[in-house]
Formats: sequence, C-alpha cells, structure tokens
Amino acid sequence: MPAKKLKPQPATREKTCTICAATYTYPAVGSSATRHVCELCNALSAPQRKVLIRMAKRIQSLERIVTKLEKQIIE
Ligand SMILES: [Zn+2]
Repeated sequence: MPAKKLKPQPATREKTCTICAATYTYPAVGSSATRHVCELCNALSAPQRKVLIRMAKRIQSLERIVTKLEKQIIE
C-alpha cells in the first residue's frame, strides 16, 4: 500500500504572490503572508506595495504580448 500523502488543511493552498510571483503556502503558522501577497512583499509599506502591484501588472501584460509575438514568429 502506498504511503498516504499528508494533505494540507482544507484552507491551506499554494499561492502565487501577486507582486513578486513567488509561491508560498497560505495560511502558514507564524507567516504574515496574506491571501494575495507573500510575507516578504507584505513587509513593504502600503505605497510601495501599490507601486509594485502596478508594475507587476505591466510586466504581466508585456509577457502576454511577448508570448503572442513568439507564437507569430514560430508560425
Ligand atoms: Zn511577494
């Protein structure tokens, strides 16, 4: 019989930080990470987080454009 995998608590999930895209477990004991932001990013001040979220969105949209253009080149 295969060893049973330890299942995380129902609410515990692998999350991706909206700012730095790091993966983290939420909720984790002793961690100040939130549902959307990892512990490191959550330690930043609110205005810093706001700016970084904006930049992360711009990077995401640029990544989408690059992926689209790469596909066009391949075809
Ligand atoms: Zn982060």
